[in-house]
Amino acid sequence: MPRGVKNFLLDILFPKFCLGCKKEGTFLCKDCEAVLDVQRRHQRFSGKYLSDLYWALSYENPLVKTFIHNFKYEPFVKELAKPLSKLILNHFQLIENPPPFLENKGFILVSVPLSKKRLKWRGFNQAEEIGKELSSFLKIPLISNCLIKIKETSPQVDLPEKKRKENVVGAFLVKPVRKEWRVWDPVRKCWFSNGIKDKEKTKGKKVLLVDDVFTTGSTMEECAKTLKKSGVKEVIGIVIARG
Ligand SMILES: [Zn+2]
Repeated sequence: MPRGVKNFLLDILFPKFCLGCKKEGTFLCKDCEAVLDVQRRHQRFSGKYLSDLYWALSYENPLVKTFIHNFKYEPFVKELAKPLSKLILNHFQLIENPPPFLENKGFILVSVPLSKKRLKWRGFNQAEEIGKELSSFLKIPLISNCLIKIKETSPQVDLPEKKRKENVVGAFLVKPVRKEWRVWDPVRKCWFSNGIKDKEKTKGKKVLLVDDVFTTGSTMEECAKTLKKSGVKEVIGIVIARG
């Protein structure tokens, strides 16, 4: 069945409602999008391993929390990845100086991985879904199964700030065997794993590390540390919202 026809039928059978105001039509309506208030400025960020951080929304905004919650938890609206990623792209267009990865070559996208248990529970990796959208718009390859989570950790949200850092220490690993990595094909909307090209390797590369929310930054810093240890030159974070 052609995708257009399928979507048309799905819309009739399961009409979409805005998760902010319940208006029919889309998961995120224009009115709510305005309230989400995309950042018009880029605030330079410098972490221990992250050299910068781009974030489109403030997590202090209750409506931002509502949408991200609907995406990550019940009812797990995976389709929110698209409109939420669009807000990140809006942010890139609104800020005074375009981010270096819009023009420069030599970047790859990597999403913050989930543990197997967490992935099974949610059914998808929310960071990877954002990565897929960014990959298709930015024309930057998204590499999966390269940075993996090797330790089951408590959800960071359940822990006090001090505990978050030690919770994720040693939790990630860059898989040394490149043929096990996968690259997202944004046109065919599928992963491919054969023939990973040199341009998609990590050594000497600049990585755009994608996650949904940046709070204390412990998870992203630990990922960035792991990536840099494996030979990555620079890591820049991209998230929907910052707490
Ligand atoms: Zn709405």
